[in-house]
Amino acid sequence: MTKKRLSSIKQDIIAACLRMNQTGLNQGTSGNISARNGVGFVITASGVRYDGMEQHHIVEMDLQSGYRGEFLPSSEWRMHMDIYAACPDAQAIVHTHSPYATAVSSLRKDVPAFHYMVAAAGGNTLRCADYATFGTQELSDNMLAALESRSACLLANHGMICFGKNLDAAFSLGVEVEALCRQYAIACQMGKPVILKDAEMANVLERFKTYGKQPAETEKSDSPAVFAPVRRD
Ligand code: 13P
Ligand code: ZN
Repeated sequence: MTKKRLSSIKQDIIAACLRMNQTGLNQGTSGNISARNGVGFVITASGVRYDGMEQHHIVEMDLQSGYRGEFLPSSEWRMHMDIYAACPDAQAIVHTHSPYATAVSSLRKDVPAFHYMVAAAGGNTLRCADYATFGTQELSDNMLAALESRSACLLANHGMICFGKNLDAAFSLGVEVEALCRQYAIACQMGKPVILKDAEMANVLERFKTYGKQPAETEKSDSPAVFAPVRRD
C-alpha cells in the first residue's frame, strides 16, 4: 500500500467519524471505525475526540494483535481484527452507540423481520450478541457468533457493529440498522408488529442479489435509444 493511499484511507475514516457524530449516529468518543489495509487494518485510536482527530490518531494494526505508533488502538480492536480475519468480504467496519440500536440492544433480543429491510443485514433477523464487557475477547466471540451469515448485529446493552465492502457501504448499513431499530421501537410502542414469514424473507434476500445493480456504463452508452422492458418477477 502506497503512503498516499494509506493517507487517503485515514482521511476517509476521519471524515466518517465526524459524520457519525454530526448525524447523531454516535456521540462523544463512543464507537470506532476501521478499514482493511493490505494484510492488516487501520483503526481509530482509543478515546480520542473525533473533532480533534488527525491522521496520526488512526492506528495501523496487523491480524496478530500487533499495532504500531504512539497511540493505542480502539479498545474494541479485537472485534475489528476478528471480523477481518473471519470475513474476507469485510473491507471496513463501523461500531456505534447509536440511540435506537443501543436502546433495542438492552432488550437482549434479536430484531425479527418486522420490515423486509432487516434482510440488509444478511438474513431474516438482526441478531443481538450476548452481553460481555466492552473491549474483551468474550465480547468479540459473542459478536462473531451473532454475525454468522450476517454483516451487522446488535451488541447487548452496548450498541451495534457492521461491516461492508467499503467504508461507504459499512456506514450506510449502520444508518440502516439504526433506522430499523427506530422503526421497530415505534411499532412495538403501538402494538405487536406482524413478522414476515421466513419464505417471504428468502424471497427478499433473493431479490437483494440484483436490487440496485444498474447496467454497466459501457452497456448503457452502446444501447440504442429505445425503451427496454423492465424485468418483472
Ligand atoms: P474506543 O474509544 O476505545 O474506541 O472505545 C469506544 C467504544 O465504543 C467501546 O466499546
Ligand atoms: Zn462501544
